[in-house]
Amino acid sequence: MTNQHYPHLFQPLKVGNKTINNRVLMGSMHTGLEDRPKNYPKLAEYFKQRAAGEAGIIVTGGIAPNIAGWVGPFSGFLKYGFQVKRHRLVTEAVHSVGGLICMQILHSGRYGYHPFNVSATDKQSPITPFKPKKLSDKKIHKQIKDFVNCARLAQKAHYDGVEIMGSEGYLINQFISPRTNDRDDDWGGSYENRTRFALEIVKQTRAAVGEDFIIIFRLSMLELVNNGSSIDEVIRLAQDLEQAGVSIINTGIGWHEARVPTIATMVPRAGFAWVTELIKQAVSVPLVTTNRINHPQVAEDIIASGKADMVSMARPFLADPELVKKSRLGQAQDINICIGCNQACLDHVFKNQMASCLVNPAACHETEFEKQPTQKSKNIAVVGAGMAGLSCATTLAERGHQVTLFEASDKIGGQFNLAAAIPGKEEFVHTINYFSHLLDKHGVTLKLNHPATASDLDGFDEVVIASGVVPRVPGIEGIDHDKVILYHDLLSGRKKAGHKVAVIGAGGIGFDVSEYLSVENPDQAQTIDEFCAEWGIDQSIQAPGGLVKAHDEKSAREITMLQRKTSKPGKGLGKTTGWIHRLSLKKKGIKTLTGVQYHKIDDQGLHITVKEQPQVLDVDHVVICAGQLSNKDLYQTDDHFHIIGGADVAAELDAKRAIKQGTELGLKL
Ligand code: FAD
Ligand code: NAP
Ligand code: SF4
Repeated sequence: MTNQHYPHLFQPLKVGNKTINNRVLMGSMHTGLEDRPKNYPKLAEYFKQRAAGEAGIIVTGGIAPNIAGWVGPFSGFLKYGFQVKRHRLVTEAVHSVGGLICMQILHSGRYGYHPFNVSATDKQSPITPFKPKKLSDKKIHKQIKDFVNCARLAQKAHYDGVEIMGSEGYLINQFISPRTNDRDDDWGGSYENRTRFALEIVKQTRAAVGEDFIIIFRLSMLELVNNGSSIDEVIRLAQDLEQAGVSIINTGIGWHEARVPTIATMVPRAGFAWVTELIKQAVSVPLVTTNRINHPQVAEDIIASGKADMVSMARPFLADPELVKKSRLGQAQDINICIGCNQACLDHVFKNQMASCLVNPAACHETEFEKQPTQKSKNIAVVGAGMAGLSCATTLAERGHQVTLFEASDKIGGQFNLAAAIPGKEEFVHTINYFSHLLDKHGVTLKLNHPATASDLDGFDEVVIASGVVPRVPGIEGIDHDKVILYHDLLSGRKKAGHKVAVIGAGGIGFDVSEYLSVENPDQAQTIDEFCAEWGIDQSIQAPGGLVKAHDEKSAREITMLQRKTSKPGKGLGKTTGWIHRLSLKKKGIKTLTGVQYHKIDDQGLHITVKEQPQVLDVDHVVICAGQLSNKDLYQTDDHFHIIGGADVAAELDAKRAIKQGTELGLKL
């Protein structure tokens, strides 16, 4: 029956002898759970929830075919028969709720963060400290055999198929691309030789697993590195892969060493669906498109337009395991949207921590975050409707408590409203909207424009203080001068900055404020064309790797960002997004000064000393982003008082911690 909400998204798709119920593939994500045998019961529960949430077909995180293919030391690999048993926990869990699951085979090649890594080349990658060993002809055949063996073991473990990872700059991609394939034997040089490794893996795997086992190939369609593949080669390889026996081709965008954002929140929604569309007419197997597809309407539009046959959503399944089911039922407002921040997923993985999700701390911790209804409903006051207070209040109310939420301002969201005002962080508003929906759904009594006082809190069984933070105002002479603007006054629109601006503080907020000041219309989100122009992406992919000269747009204002430390500005920004913020501001010509001493602010501007040289920055305004202080006046050291979020600790506060602390307390009371 046609779905009335998203008719194209809920068209079934037949692949081999399997029917995928909808057009959503849960894309592969390394979570860390797949690396340790003891975590497989947790991994099974993680996938089971996503299958029960009606993901059409799931692809696991990457599993290496051998030790040389490890992503990092002791990461998950499948080479021996005894390893099959733990994978059966996963497949049985998924099949028990009617889901389909494929195992991704990922050989990291020279990206392997360990001394046993191998590649088509002996040239070290720019993102690992380990030089790879160049594979001999004999060793190449051995790697192919290991891929085939891995696929066969996956079949024994009852997976419905495998995804062969051929993109993102991993081993197969290292053979395909002239960037890393510097060989002059049968495996290098011509297109035929460079693609032989990929095609042999597919042909031999198909021969080993039979016709009905799904083989997805993740094809690197837009590499975003110099000397990468061009569209002609990509199309030809897609056709050759079809001939070799793949069932589905998935899209790969960008190598890990590329210096173009591909999934972070500033990438426009569905910002790379045009890439898959370029291949669409060339092959007849289903094509999956990917990157920054986080809402069912975006997915529906892609399928309806014929750009692709399926969409891959990966991080959105961390944010909400039930997103497909909610879409089918027309409950899009119930979906906890992935905001593309990377803070708890990719940033964790790159720091060797277990993945999770900023907006859903239960992700990958399913067995620890079970929401049990309360045995004894209490009357609970929560002070402050920022991320900490919202997550706590909604969790408490969902469990059956009577919750009153006091908010001093006229809206919920606290500091996150300011974050959502930053160009490229517009998506953050979805988290606020989601909480707004939950407040209604779970019957929280919300008192806006109501700064709670001590007397308001009398008579409650429990009191949660989530009153957040206030900006730190540094004791610089002239801090009361008209030129001075605190970041929250600027971002909330209460004050405007002139053309020449000094930004005091180069932390997360200093960077965001500089980004905000650097554009003419901070309210206007970038289009896909503007994004591609800014980052030098060739939308015809005629240029190798799809890279052309970037269009460096100059800042709308003259901005100087300052800090007292001598370390690199923005050093503490997110592991996988910090480089984007730093590069973006550099491209726009924003100046940074480190090792600064502040003296005073007066009509002349900001008086400072840098490297023992006194100077005056002739600026119209000085925006203060000098950190924050806890706002905890209402807190009492009493058993029925609890404190969370920025009110608890202001240092190194972010929404990830605020939501996690709020949710954990909400589960405990
Ligand atoms: P707050 O957000 O400060 O909320 C406290 C709330 O309590 C406020 O709404 C306040 O009005 C209310 N309140 C205070 N006193 C009372 C009272 N007496 N009675 C009733 N209500 C009261 N974090 C990230 O993780 N990622 C980012 O990319 C990111 N970007 C940011 C960008 C900017 C520009 C800013 C300013 C912040 C950013 N943050 C980011 C930080 C993040 O928004 C905060 O760390 C987080 O939201 C703090 O949540 P909180 O609930 O503890 O405090
Ligand atoms: P922050 O990262 O701690 O930076 C504070 C800045 O103020 C530093 O540059 C510091 O540099 C300066 N400073 C501190 N005390 C000062 C003083 N007395 N006088 C002058 N300068 C002073 O804090 P933030 O920028 O306010 O951000 C708050 C939190 O929000 C962060 O912890 C972050 O996690 C979160 N956030 C995250 C993102 C993100 O992209 N993930 C974005 C925005 C915010 P010096 O001490 O060297 O001068
Ligand atoms: Fe999405 Fe951020 Fe959650 Fe990662 S941490 S899944 S990017 S919301």
